[in-house]
Amino acid sequence: MPMFSSYSYPGSDRRIGRKPWTLALLLLAVVAAASTPTTPSPADPQRYLNDIKTLTAPSMEGRGAGTKGIGRAAQVLEARYKSLGLKPAGTNSYLEPFTVITGARLKGNNHLVAETGGSKTELRVNQDFLPYSFSSSGSVSAPVVFVGYGASGDEFQYDDYANVDVKDKIVVVLRYEPEGFATKSGNHGLTRHAQLVTKAINARNHGAKAVVMINGKLAGEEEDLLTRFGTVNGPEDVGIVIVQVKNAVAEGWFRTAGKTLPDVQKQIDSSSKPESFAFPADLGLSINVSIESTRAKVNNVLAYLPGKGDEYVIVGAHYDHLGRGNVDSLAPSQIGQIHPGADDNASGTAGVLELARLLAPLRGQLQRGILFASFAGEELGLLGSAHWVKEPTLPLDKAVAMLNMDMIGRIKDKKVFIGGVGTGSTFKPILEQAGSKSDLKLEFSAGGYAASDHTSFVSKKIPVLFFFSGLHSDYHKPSDTWDKINPNDAAVLLNLVSSVTLQLATAAERPAFVTVVEERPGPVSGGGGGYGPYFGSIPDFGQVENGVRFSDIRPGSPAAKAGLKAGDVLVQFNDKPIKNLYDFTDALRRSKVGEVVEVKVLRDGQPITAKVKLEQRK
Ligand SMILES: [Zn+2]
Ligand SMILES: [Zn+2]
Repeated sequence: MPMFSSYSYPGSDRRIGRKPWTLALLLLAVVAAASTPTTPSPADPQRYLNDIKTLTAPSMEGRGAGTKGIGRAAQVLEARYKSLGLKPAGTNSYLEPFTVITGARLKGNNHLVAETGGSKTELRVNQDFLPYSFSSSGSVSAPVVFVGYGASGDEFQYDDYANVDVKDKIVVVLRYEPEGFATKSGNHGLTRHAQLVTKAINARNHGAKAVVMINGKLAGEEEDLLTRFGTVNGPEDVGIVIVQVKNAVAEGWFRTAGKTLPDVQKQIDSSSKPESFAFPADLGLSINVSIESTRAKVNNVLAYLPGKGDEYVIVGAHYDHLGRGNVDSLAPSQIGQIHPGADDNASGTAGVLELARLLAPLRGQLQRGILFASFAGEELGLLGSAHWVKEPTLPLDKAVAMLNMDMIGRIKDKKVFIGGVGTGSTFKPILEQAGSKSDLKLEFSAGGYAASDHTSFVSKKIPVLFFFSGLHSDYHKPSDTWDKINPNDAAVLLNLVSSVTLQLATAAERPAFVTVVEERPGPVSGGGGGYGPYFGSIPDFGQVENGVRFSDIRPGSPAAKAGLKAGDVLVQFNDKPIKNLYDFTDALRRSKVGEVVEVKVLRDGQPITAKVKLEQRK
């Protein structure tokens, strides 16, 4: 969208560059370039911490989408940018409003009626059946076809849809995937075919009108539970009606075909061949799904420091957080309490404010401008930054780099993680120079994809740098409070970011975008693939050398009952050595509910073994 076509750039007048320069003028220019820009004053830890206090005050309500608090936070940011004399760079002065979906709820009539041989059975919502939050709304009445795991895996020469006609039919689909997929794909746990969204899209692509999911075979002491509404991530509307029913309900349907559900599933698993079939014509289902999305209006807050030319550097951070907790809260028992998000991400937001304060006096002096961007909707899926790159308020091709700060407030042992270093051709030397002036220990990684806003810019081929001080046990919990922030080291990091910003804003050449080929881990997110049984530890993503360190243990969980503690480092799970989080996730996925596993942890360096009885996730 050409939002920027009417935007006028002070300093974009470059006619002077086309005039023949005299040597004297040139010399003058060189001298001037060497003496300006001035070095900005250093970041002030106390001022920085005060901004974090403001952003985490109770009136900010955890800056959740849909709360009044996030609006108050936007006002604070706007007022600050204004007072610094920065130019508005939103669509409505400093603001760029957009709408986000904050959730979904069942509304009105949700029913499922099964008709067999003239007799009707009405299923009870929440007890016998339940739609998924990403289901389409609508009514479907149709004959029924069983399509196994609903997988079309060319790479495994396996297709549940071969030899059956599902056009305009309702398909019954098993959770998970044929047992052979994981082994054939190199043992990384479940493949994408196990994900509910993949199954839904595959059914839709084959012309089916609705999907009925069943759990099928249960592991160990697992109960046949319906997945709670709204707890599986997916799009707003996957484009087909999709519900789940209890095994017991589906078993009745299998009997009408003279089969049993366990036998059919066993047959697929042992032969690695599909067993799809159409149920007898006298079985029909009528499904009605009615889901309403809840929406909220939020704002990106954008301010511009004009340079001499029309190119610019973006310095950004998301300012939204989880409000009073949502699906992403890591303290589910405390949902309803304010999640203040001091580190995530008042720390980055206040960092942008501090940099704006330090750099504002350089207005018009730098070769390139600086866009200070405070994004909303990040916690709901990078929505603010995605919106901005889709409808940019400045020309995208003039953005030379995007620097993102997400969680920079808890620097420990001077360690700072910097991602995206490989995405810009000039980043390495710039960072090394900036880093040599501080005592921080910088850990570089080349790739630019991570779960924060800079990812939106990588996808537009804009070089990115991501500054991060690491995860901790207060992450996404009400205990992420301002008093745990380390403002002194954060200020040191801000001086480094300031120096990087200045180098990028003044260098003769802008960095060229470099595509970094990344080892992407297998499917980690839910989508019905699941993480296996419930263990109850919260891993510390920041420290994963030869083991998984627990940043916390959930009270009452299997891990807590076994006596495991925060700080323990998991090194063995039954007979499997655990080197990293993937090993742990994989081991867990291969275990069963009710199984007792023997784990070995290191506590203060001493090995301890414990027996953990795995439970079902609920
Ligand atoms: Zn964040
Ligand atoms: Zn977050």
